[in-house]
Amino acid sequence: MTDNIRKGTLLKNGDDIQASILQFFQDAVEKKLFDAVMLPMKVPSGDSFAWIMIKDAAVLKDAQPLAPIMPVNAATALKRYTRKGKGKFKIAALMKPCEIRATIELTKLNQVHLDDVTLFTYDCVGALPMQDYIADPEGGDEKFGKLLTDKNFKSKDVKPVCKICDKFSLSASDLHFAFSDKDILLISNSEKGEKLLTDLDWKADADLKKWQKHIDEITKIKVKNKTDTFKIVKDMAEGYDNLVETFSNCIGCHNCSSSCPICYCRQCYFDSSVAKPNSDVVMMRAEERGAASLPLDRIMFHTGRMAHMSLSCVSCGLCSDACPVNIPVAKIFSYVASQTQKAFEYSAGASAGDALPMKEYKLNELGELGELVKSAEAQEESNE
Ligand code: SF4
Ligand code: SF4
Repeated sequence: MTDNIRKGTLLKNGDDIQASILQFFQDAVEKKLFDAVMLPMKVPSGDSFAWIMIKDAAVLKDAQPLAPIMPVNAATALKRYTRKGKGKFKIAALMKPCEIRATIELTKLNQVHLDDVTLFTYDCVGALPMQDYIADPEGGDEKFGKLLTDKNFKSKDVKPVCKICDKFSLSASDLHFAFSDKDILLISNSEKGEKLLTDLDWKADADLKKWQKHIDEITKIKVKNKTDTFKIVKDMAEGYDNLVETFSNCIGCHNCSSSCPICYCRQCYFDSSVAKPNSDVVMMRAEERGAASLPLDRIMFHTGRMAHMSLSCVSCGLCSDACPVNIPVAKIFSYVASQTQKAFEYSAGASAGDALPMKEYKLNELGELGELVKSAEAQEESNE
């Protein structure tokens, strides 16, 4: 469906976002359209959120569909649920747009299976930095509640990557909750989404022009923020000396990779015994350069990670949230990802139909290399 003919369905009680979305899922579970819904819920200590698979419609009232922080990317939670392939239950999962993009990337890597999952997303005001929220959960709840009430997509209180996120709205989900003035509109975005609206006997007759115009305006502001930020980040991320300076206080804890939804390998080379040098290797390096900083190979870890996953980085910011020494890891990786994805004309998680460049080689990509392959093939043919 093209954007200019796409219509939305007006949700009841549209002025309270959290309540309206919860009501929608409660109704859908009661009507047996889903066996369970995966939503965030506050943990008993009150200072974080966890992903909960909720079967009982009565328990849904305790969930907080739009959580102020993102301790775990929903794609990671869904990966754990669908790890063994298609299940026998119909699941709904509501996620931020960057989490949807991570999910789409993981489906291409056979880490998430969406056969029995319907993906929902929403216009995202951003997430608060984790450390700020943990320091003052009540203040964080108040701040985030106001962002939702004001439908403020330009807050300075959200994570640095959220301030420059220009993909904060409609994404590759099946259905999308759009926040327009006082209304909440549900937009179907796939055959699965259309079917759900048909099963609910809901008509999509609400005009989306006003909402789309507003989203386009915010997107322009975010694109400008991103361009300005990346001009600064470029000097932190490009070149060996800059990388050494940027990661000079890295303690090698690898929290950034273990929190990243895209770093899915069960055994990371950098955590393996092969990558842990013995005293001979340390001394050899110290001898070569006069001294060796410990732990060894910090830059190799970061550049190795960039090489492995920057095509699929979705700028969710979890790596920065997880860094104990406040390195702006997410900004660095987002910048590198923007360059890698541009080179391959790829946008991580934008569409399930776009092949992952690492999995599908095109002869004409990276021109020079393509030419080399062609001439080698021609040579081979002439030798036959
Ligand atoms: S590198 Fe950081 S910003 Fe990119 S997907 Fe991983 S955790 Fe998210
Ligand atoms: S989380 Fe921070 S300190 Fe830990 S390895 Fe990553 S960049 Fe280094």
